Amino acid sequence: MKQCDLHTHTTASDGTFTPAQNIRRAVEKGLGAIAITDHDTVNGIHEAMLEAKKHEGFSCIPGIEISTLYKGQDIHVLGYFIDYEDEIFLNALSSLTSVRDKRNKMILENLNHLGIPVMESELEAKRHGKGNVGRGHIAEILMEKGIVNSLPEAFEKYLGKGKAAYASTERISPIEAIQLIKKAKGVPVLAHPGIYGVDELISILSENGLIGLEYNHPDHSRNQVAFYEELADEHSLIKTAGSDFHGFRNGEVFHGDLGSCSVPISTIDVLRSLSK
Ligand SMILES: [Zn+2]
Ligand SMILES: [Zn+2]
Repeated sequence: MKQCDLHTHTTASDGTFTPAQNIRRAVEKGLGAIAITDHDTVNGIHEAMLEAKKHEGFSCIPGIEISTLYKGQDIHVLGYFIDYEDEIFLNALSSLTSVRDKRNKMILENLNHLGIPVMESELEAKRHGKGNVGRGHIAEILMEKGIVNSLPEAFEKYLGKGKAAYASTERISPIEAIQLIKKAKGVPVLAHPGIYGVDELISILSENGLIGLEYNHPDHSRNQVAFYEELADEHSLIKTAGSDFHGFRNGEVFHGDLGSCSVPISTIDVLRSLSK
């Protein structure tokens, strides 16, 4: 049975591949399907769906990755088979984008105070069409300016939680994101639980409509994969996996390459059957 990668980013958010390029790379890698899960935007989905149609037997799952906040911690909630043309959903996303832009501004101000001038126009230049920009793009600018040598270094020194230029704005809660996804007929799944350190959230969200858990992710250790697999079973959550592919920046893969974390394609039928 073919495998599918349920977590990928494109130029609609902070990926470096266009939606069509993601699809073509997935086909080349022998995957049966991928989900497009850009940060707080569905702008890449249409192009990806069109490209997927050109490849027989390959499918694209319309998805999203919503940024939320729980006890000061960034929590990402994935949504699959969302109705990406639903007007209420699109309106909610555009207000998330303005929050994201406000946060970007705060980060740039913090960098300027540290004597690292990064202009808003430089960040805007990174935006693809109506896509989103965020910390990944700021990290890229810091690298281009020679202030850091790698993307992880940008997060370790400046952009990560609690670091020199970190900023956080009011954001929706994970439960609100679950509700938003469900209203758009989507299936909510908690992304990469291993990077949060708030495992109690899994049972709280399970009682509040969460349907799946991304038990396997490039940033999870082998022990964490086993641990979250068990936790998913315990809470009757669907087990999903994805590479969190972001393309390449200066030859480096951020998180993992397409297909590096995947699940059997039958998982898609289960997710589809739960979308309503
Ligand atoms: Zn994420
Ligand atoms: Zn992601």
